[in-house]
Parts: sequence; C-alpha cells; structure tokens
Amino acid sequence: MSDEPTVSGPDLTAGIPIVQVPEGGMLAGHVSGKPVLLARSGGEWFAVGAVCSHYSGPLPEGILVGDTVRCPWHHGCFSLRTGQALRPPALNDLSCWRVEQRGDKVYVAGKAQKPERAASGRRGPDSVLIVGAGAAGDSAAETLRREGYEGSLTLYDPDPDAPYDRPNLSKDYLAGTASEDWIPLHPLEFYQERGISIVRDRRVMAVEPKARRIRLDDGQTREYGALILATGATPVRLPAEMERGSPPVLYLRTFADSKAIIAAAANAKCAVILGASFIGLEVAASLRARKLEVHVVAPDARPLARIMGTELGGFIQKLHEENGVVFHLQQKAREIAGGAVTLENGERLEPDFVVVGIGVRPNLELAERAGLTIDRGVLVDERLQTSAPGIYAAGDIARWPQPRTGEPIRVEHWVVAQRQGQAAARSILDLDQRFDAVPFFWSQHYDVPINYVGHAERWDSIEVDGSIEARDCAVRFKRGGRTLAVATIYRDRQSLEAELAMEQAMI
Ligand SMILES: Cc1cc2nc3c(=O)[nH]c(=O)nc-3n(C[C@H](O)[C@H](O)[C@H](O)COP(=O)(O)OP(=O)(O)OC[C@H]3O[C@@H](n4cnc5c(N)ncnc54)[C@H](O)[C@@H]3O)c2cc1C
Repeated sequence: MSDEPTVSGPDLTAGIPIVQVPEGGMLAGHVSGKPVLLARSGGEWFAVGAVCSHYSGPLPEGILVGDTVRCPWHHGCFSLRTGQALRPPALNDLSCWRVEQRGDKVYVAGKAQKPERAASGRRGPDSVLIVGAGAAGDSAAETLRREGYEGSLTLYDPDPDAPYDRPNLSKDYLAGTASEDWIPLHPLEFYQERGISIVRDRRVMAVEPKARRIRLDDGQTREYGALILATGATPVRLPAEMERGSPPVLYLRTFADSKAIIAAAANAKCAVILGASFIGLEVAASLRARKLEVHVVAPDARPLARIMGTELGGFIQKLHEENGVVFHLQQKAREIAGGAVTLENGERLEPDFVVVGIGVRPNLELAERAGLTIDRGVLVDERLQTSAPGIYAAGDIARWPQPRTGEPIRVEHWVVAQRQGQAAARSILDLDQRFDAVPFFWSQHYDVPINYVGHAERWDSIEVDGSIEARDCAVRFKRGGRTLAVATIYRDRQSLEAELAMEQAMI
C-alpha cells in the first residue's frame, strides 16, 4: 500500500553462508531489487517477500512460528511455504522464492510457482449472503473463495464506498499523509475476478430465519443457504438539540465522515473533540498534523485509563499535550450553540467544528428483530454460529466465548473482526473452525504506536517492563497472577511473543 520499499542486506542470489542464519533465524536481503526474507525453520529454508502486504511492515523483524512468519506491526501472518496471507490484517499473498543449499552456502534462486489454490468446488450451501461489507464481511467473503467455495456469494452494504480500511480514517488519511487510493481494501476487479458480488447502497431491513430469507430496503427479498451478520457499530450521538446548533457537529465512522472532517478542517483554525477515546485522540493527533488548535473535552480524569491503566493513560495525555492538544478533563459539553461549546464548568470554547468520539453501539437491530439471542451483542458459539441455524455473526456485533477465560466477550477491533470473518466462513464450509484467536488491536498517536494483545476488562496489578516515558515498554495487565493483556510501545517482538504465549496458554 505504500511506495516501493527500499532493499537492505545482501544479494541473496550470491549465496549466504549457512552459519549466518541459525535454526529459527531470519535474514533480510534482496533479489532482483526486491526485498526478500530468508528464513530457516524446522530444518528447512524458505524465502518470501520481506514486506507485509498490509502496511508494509518489515517481516524480518517479526517472529517465525513453524512454517509461518508474523508481522511485527499489526500481527498479520503468512505461510513461508506458499507466501499465502494466512491471518488478517495481511491482505495479499507474498511472492515466494526457491532456495537451494549448495555446500556450506544457501542461495535464493528464481521465483517459485504460485501454489494451487484450495481445492475448488468445496461443498457448502448454495448461497452465502453477508450483511455488511466492513472488516468482518469482506474477510468472510475473501475466505470463502480462498477455501474454494464456488456457490453464489453476495455482500450488501448501504455504504457506497465499502469495503475500506476503516482504521486509516482517523490516522494517516485524516492527517493528510495517506492518499485516497490507500483506503479501499482491494480494487473492484479483485471482487469481480473472484465472483464476489457487492451490492452497495442497499440496506438489509429484515432477516427471516424460518424462511431463510432477507428483505432489502427496496422491498425485494433474497433467500440464503447461510447468512453472516457483520453490521458493525454506529457512533453514539449527542442529544439532537446539541447537534442542531453551531458550530457543526461531526462523527467518524465512514470514509464519507472522514472526508467531511477534512473538508471542515480546510478553512478552520480550531476544533473541539468530545471524548478522549482512541478515535477521539487519533482525530486530535491528525488535526494537529493539519495545524489546527485542538481541545479535547472528556469526563475521564485520565484519557484511556479504563483500558490502559492510569500510567499509560497519563503518558498518552502528556504525548498529546506535548503536541499542542489542550485537555479539559472531568468535563462534559453542556451546550453547543451560538458558535460555542459551553462546558459544565461554564468555560466557553469557540471552535469551527466539533468531532464527537464518545463510543459506539453495536448494530444489533436486525439480529434483535430476527429473534436471535442477544446479550450485549449477538451471542455466538465458538464457531460463530448464532442461536438460529445457518446464521453466523462476526465483528463488532458478536459476543463470543473467549477460550482463555471462558467468559463471553465483545470487542471493537479491526483484526478481531477480520479473523472472525475468516472463522465464520470456514464454519459455513464445515471446516471445523473454532474462533480462538487472541484479541489484538493497535492505535497510533503521532509517531507512537501502541499494540495491545489479550483482553483485560479488570485487573489487580499492572507490571511495567521497561519505561513508558522512554517509549520502550511492555505493560502487563494481570489478575490473580495471570497475564490477561499486554500493551507495548516499540516492543513489537514482545507483543508477538505475548500473543503466541497466550495462544499456547503459556501465560
Ligand atoms: C475511525 C476508526 C478508526 C479505527 N481504528 C482502529 C484501530 O486502529 N485498530 C483497531 O483494532 N480497530 C480500529 N477501529 C475499529 C474497527 O474499525 C472496527 O472494530 C471494525 O471495523 C469492525 O468491523 P465490522 O466488520 O464488525 O464492522 P464495520 O467495519 O463497521 O462494517 C460494518 C458494515 O455493515 C454495514 N451495515 C450496517 N447495517 C447494515 C444493514 N442493515 N444492511 C447492510 N449493511 C449494513 C455498514 O455500512 C458497514 O459498512 C477503528 C474504527 C474507526 C471508526
């Protein structure tokens, strides 16, 4: 998705002494001007493209797990054997190269043949309909085709731009450092070539589980063999009277929302962000990059402390303050009118516009009306099956049994939604896929990325390894001596290792 990556390391066609890459080791090099990763795992040699197909992360700085490599930035995972993108957020496959061992040297020869796709004609229902072409819906559709499903496959979404890279909308795109062509997940031809039909500008209004049918907003109905609900979430809104006045009030969920904020920022001097959520703070950072004066108003004593703890929350606050953001904490907006935002303490701010980031609500209405079991989300089993046969749910709406603690949880993470989409697709094909991925999310504030693996709603202790202040740390959230989650700053390998240890129930 970025410009052509630069190459480093040796020319791998010239041969590398075997001793230079120990078992379990990786080496960054190049072949014909392309960055290539040479890896040695399980006594075998592998060579694949060295750059992650998600955000161009440096794979040689990731970790090897068997015959796979995981990206240090956002935990995408690729097969070393085939280059195949195995786990989101990896988007496309890597190139794969032939490796030859001659004497005490190893050489990377020409490109390997592209492996055959999964056996075609995989049995499954006659048709799969997917409601919502976001992270989960898109990933489910791609996976069905990757796994060889040949039946009819349609996604419905009222958003004319879907599917696209939603996390970017508050980060590089909003800051003006990523162009519009970064935002679609794939070009249109990608879907056409795979026989994936995306019906945009069309909302699903009802699901009729007994008739195995959906009803669209133009009154038409469509029957399904299997249905995936992936309707995502909607920003929590302010009371209507606050939205009506001036300055204008904006939200951020869609590509169009992000464009509207950019348009508002074009001739603006000052913005107020309501809510010190991840999205609110990412918007603050992006608007600072556009040189606006930015005020953040939030009821919290420390931003993000509920999720990250007070020390990390304090660090994030300071980071934003160093970058010129003014916080108004333990405050709420009392009124938005007459060109001003008036806080509960009477303070008046006069921004050109307001962005609201006070949380989201999962879009549960379709599932509720269809009579599916709901408990603060659509309840699903470990195969992402809802209470109605043939109906699956994935992404922000799904509450699933987390294997590590047995507690059902619902999260709002991009990678989790994509991985659930994958798992739901495989369940539909009876590939016996349990969803047991460890939750992962990332957030970016200026030049500081924060990676978070696991899930900790409550903890009794926080252990800091390294220094938060020095931006070099792994922060462990523990309960009863057990590590529930790990947040890292510039400790990417440690984040990957924590994810792996949690998968293997080692911590
Ligand atoms: C600005 C922003 C930044 C974010 N940054 C991060 C980040 O850095 N890291 C991270 O982990 N997460 C991030 N997230 C959260 C992440 O994007 C979500 O968790 C993820 O998109 C959820 O995927 P989903 O498929 O469940 O829902 P979505 O991606 O929201 O997709 C749901 C789709 O369903 C459609 N839909 C809804 N109702 C209907 C209907 N009745 N009929 C048909 N279609 C319907 C919607 O139009 C939408 O396109 C961010 C979110 C936002 C908004």
